[in-house]
Amino acid sequence: MYLRIDKLQYEMPAPTEPDTKAAAAVQDLLGGRFGEMSTVMNYTYQSFNMRGHKKIQPYYELVSAIAAEELGHIELVAATINGLLTGAVPDGASPEDAPLKGIADDYPGHFLANGAGARVAGAGGEPWQGDYVFNTGNLKLDLLHNFFLECGARMGKLRVYEATDHPTARAMCGYLLVRGGVHAVAYAKALETLTGVEVTKLLPIPEIPTDKIPEAKKFMDTGAHQKLYTFSPNDYKNLAAIWNGTTPEDGSQVEVVDGHPEGGEKQEFAEAASIFVPGYDPGKLADIAAKLMEK
Ligand code: MN
Ligand code: MN
Repeated sequence: MYLRIDKLQYEMPAPTEPDTKAAAAVQDLLGGRFGEMSTVMNYTYQSFNMRGHKKIQPYYELVSAIAAEELGHIELVAATINGLLTGAVPDGASPEDAPLKGIADDYPGHFLANGAGARVAGAGGEPWQGDYVFNTGNLKLDLLHNFFLECGARMGKLRVYEATDHPTARAMCGYLLVRGGVHAVAYAKALETLTGVEVTKLLPIPEIPTDKIPEAKKFMDTGAHQKLYTFSPNDYKNLAAIWNGTTPEDGSQVEVVDGHPEGGEKQEFAEAASIFVPGYDPGKLADIAAKLMEK
């Protein structure tokens, strides 16, 4: 089962101006083939379907704990997209002013379907698909796939980073590059324990070192590339059977951390009343909510 904490996994810098093109590119990191929807659903279903999991506990725990972290990653990518879309719709416009004219061109679904919100789709608007989940039930093959998935996701983050210079989008890319780096190394180490093959020698893919990206280096300077979290108050205590030794990122020692990262505040994004989000008269909705909380 899951607990939920109303925070983001890192302190997201508040966007100072909207950027609908950046939001469109960032969609690939949410619902593209190698996006966070794919990592969360691959590891989640692999953990659900792992037969004999108590006999292979460290592998079960690895996939389960990373799945929980990935659930928080879809949350922070969605928050980034919402932030990038905040302020894109003119404030106080009426329908005959055509408040969506032009701005819905970059990624129509953000505005026409979702009211300035994130979509479960890739950068081309293609829906995320269950077909992106690979789960044969064979431990070695599924772990090998997960290593490949993290490498593909790293390519995606680097290219989205290259597609925008918006500081909020780039900060998110930096954070996810570091955390995805942990996952790639973790799956490599898991494969090494199973086979003796030095899978970590394949890293990094693509070949650019993570610390060449300033927004990623900032998180590495805090040791974020060394930590694997249990994402649980009491469970998943055997991760150190796999997550031990050093990381090929910089040769430093890795560590398992009980629980979850400190995280940062989940910001509130302004209403867009001219497109009826969360309503035509947000003040009225706020009054209703305030009266409910008084009771
Ligand atoms: Mn992720
Ligand atoms: Mn990952």
